[in-house]
Amino acid sequence: MSNLLPQPEAERCAGEGATCAEIRSWPARDADLGQGLLVSRALPLRQHRLVGPWCFCDSYGPLSFTGRKAMDVAPHPHIGLQTVSWLFAGEVLHNDSLGCQGMARPRELNLMTAGSGIAHSEETPTPNSGRLHGLQLWVALPEAERRRTPAFDHYRDLPVLEPGGGRVQVFMGDLAGAHAATRAFSPLVGAELQVAVGGKLRLPLNPAWEHALVIIEGEVELEGTRLAPGALHYLGTHRSGLELASKARAHAVLIGGAPFGESVIIWWNFVARTTDEIRAAREDWEHHRHFGDVAAYRGQRLAAPPFIGRPVASR
Ligand code: MN
Repeated sequence: MSNLLPQPEAERCAGEGATCAEIRSWPARDADLGQGLLVSRALPLRQHRLVGPWCFCDSYGPLSFTGRKAMDVAPHPHIGLQTVSWLFAGEVLHNDSLGCQGMARPRELNLMTAGSGIAHSEETPTPNSGRLHGLQLWVALPEAERRRTPAFDHYRDLPVLEPGGGRVQVFMGDLAGAHAATRAFSPLVGAELQVAVGGKLRLPLNPAWEHALVIIEGEVELEGTRLAPGALHYLGTHRSGLELASKARAHAVLIGGAPFGESVIIWWNFVARTTDEIRAAREDWEHHRHFGDVAAYRGQRLAAPPFIGRPVASR
């Protein structure tokens, strides 16, 4: 997706530098984007800017609709990141300036590596299931990889764990000995967790990594703390495992990874290191340079919002 909550200032985002296990919960920012599409932004936030290399987390839906496109995000550019599209319901059709097309469906991953620059569109296909519920996450690319050649990948058959007490599917990186063979450039994990009714889901974690939970539905309890939807729950580092309990069925997403060690600047759909890079990418897009066209999309592309060069801390 495009960043649908644009703001004129760039956001400077660094890691937390956590040195211990902790639980800190920060409310997401919600926005009604019209036509019933509600977006909840869990990253970036003022208090939480990066979790490992994860720098952006929007959830949208659940939504039911008929006779229209619930999602229609016209061509827009990205640099310096990977977009991770993970659906719980419905479908989203991706087209990009490389000529790649991919249909995101529940439990299948659309992964776009923007690197030096790519443009894409995302829209509800016809026909469709009339439902939409999912996540758009971004992974910041490390310095050595952030200018790499762009790529698009679609993955099925991602690893599933059933450790008792629920079901886990790993869509990026490594968790509990399971490895998602998806294109990645930093040590990380991205996984969907379903906790059974009355279940206790236990998972080992890498204690050198930091982690966070986003609750999609229901409520889970971690070490006596109730974790609710509508927030990002940052778990810190030095945590060798996780035990999630739920009285009802609960549904969450775990993100994490090695502390990123670089601060990034996020503006609109760009992840960079300086405001000059952001300004240059914006100019390239506005002047139809560098990013290419999304030939498969019917309609106008998105215009870049105004940009104020001075970066501010994330809200
Ligand atoms: Mn996008």
